[in-house]
Amino acid sequence: MAKKIIINIKEDSNVCDRGNQILREESFSVAREVYGVDLPPVVKERLELELSAIENSNSSILYLISKLIATATPEGKNIVVNPLGELGSLLIPFLLKITHGNPLPPHYFCPNCDFVDFDSEGVQAYAGRAGCDMPDRVCPICGKKLKKDGFDISPEIALALNGKRVPIFLFDLSQKYISYFSDPNHFESILSDYIQFVDVSFSDKSNPGDTSRLHISLRVDPYLDLLERCQSNTQMRWKEIPFDSEAIFSLFQSPAALGITSDDIGGFPYGTLEIPDFNTEFMARIIQETKPESFDDLIRLTGISFGDGVWLDNARDAIREGRESIKTVTAFRDDVYFYLRKKGMSTEDAFSIMQRVRKGWKASSQKQCAERDQLISKMVRHGISVHYLESIQKIQYVFPRAMGVCHTIIAWALAYYKLYFPAEYYAAYISVFMPDLKTDQPIREKTNEKFAEYSLRKDSLNMDEEKEYRNLRVLQEMYARGIVILGPDIL
Ligand SMILES: [Zn+2]
Repeated sequence: MAKKIIINIKEDSNVCDRGNQILREESFSVAREVYGVDLPPVVKERLELELSAIENSNSSILYLISKLIATATPEGKNIVVNPLGELGSLLIPFLLKITHGNPLPPHYFCPNCDFVDFDSEGVQAYAGRAGCDMPDRVCPICGKKLKKDGFDISPEIALALNGKRVPIFLFDLSQKYISYFSDPNHFESILSDYIQFVDVSFSDKSNPGDTSRLHISLRVDPYLDLLERCQSNTQMRWKEIPFDSEAIFSLFQSPAALGITSDDIGGFPYGTLEIPDFNTEFMARIIQETKPESFDDLIRLTGISFGDGVWLDNARDAIREGRESIKTVTAFRDDVYFYLRKKGMSTEDAFSIMQRVRKGWKASSQKQCAERDQLISKMVRHGISVHYLESIQKIQYVFPRAMGVCHTIIAWALAYYKLYFPAEYYAAYISVFMPDLKTDQPIREKTNEKFAEYSLRKDSLNMDEEKEYRNLRVLQEMYARGIVILGPDIL
């Protein structure tokens, strides 16, 4: 079974002009559906900036093919595709339904008329944060409830300052659809007109070498199987789940909304067991110390926990000493860029420092050391504190905000199903992660017994035991919520 599919765009592909035209028409058409025929300047300027970069790098076909994959409906079902990396920094893939988070600055817009608000004082106060955290408002023109959106992600994070960079096109998708796409006939039907411009290869390696500059990679993520099953078990579309629900947020603070206590689930303090990225003991400790209070804080938590050298001996100390909070520590590479811009550094210097920080600020050659020293003295001249200088040099790897946004949205959707559709959620979980579970096998006592045994040697479990331990915790939670697995229906 192929774990990864790589779609290479043929070098002699001559779809550029036509591709540019299609991408432009589709992007503007979707933007006008949302924001009105007369687009707000911020939307129009953003589209023009992104389109010109995409046209210059001849990469429009990557967006068009990604759209066909992300919006494919094999067997009449919508598939779930989760982008990794910086692609979510761009408005165009969001409008084409390839990515999940709107990267525009926070804003209100009316679903009924053309009212938008990107500029009022209340909205500006959320700059750099998530628009869904803004208070509810009604449309001053037609009285309908306004929609809130925008995660404020800058396009240069993906395209670079000169617009010449082509972002990485790497997507996770469910096991089921990796298998579906692995069939050349299915693939051909989905890529339709573009199939003649691509070569498709399969790999079992998780990171095969890049074969060309223009390629798309697809990998497996079982949590997307879980999300798809939750969606089809409940008929509630995951993209329609609201981001401003206090009940869902409470799961990131306590398991109480599930009707259980942490004692019921082996002492795990939150309702986020098996909510991807928020289900580890490491994340639980970060939550305890950072005390998130908004959706944006959750996004930042993913950056802090994914990154290397970001939390331990770094952000954690700053928060413990009261110098910083979850809102101000470096969680994403974007934070470095914007902090330095705010301090008055040039876009070139800020970008250059961000690029160095993102993969660990290594300087081995004499030239690299000289460049580093020069940038550091520029930062000192701009009043950057010693703490900040030390902190960014401790970072070994830091993710882009776009990735945190996409991952938090998926986690949030799963938390929603878990809270409101418990039977459907656990049924989906068991079919994805415990397909061999026989209905008569796990009785409650047995689960508790095995769980207690594993808990005692939690740090020395092998990989299979680790997996089983996690599954047992989910069963414990399920039983505590009063849900049982019924025997097979043999009538
Ligand atoms: Zn209105």
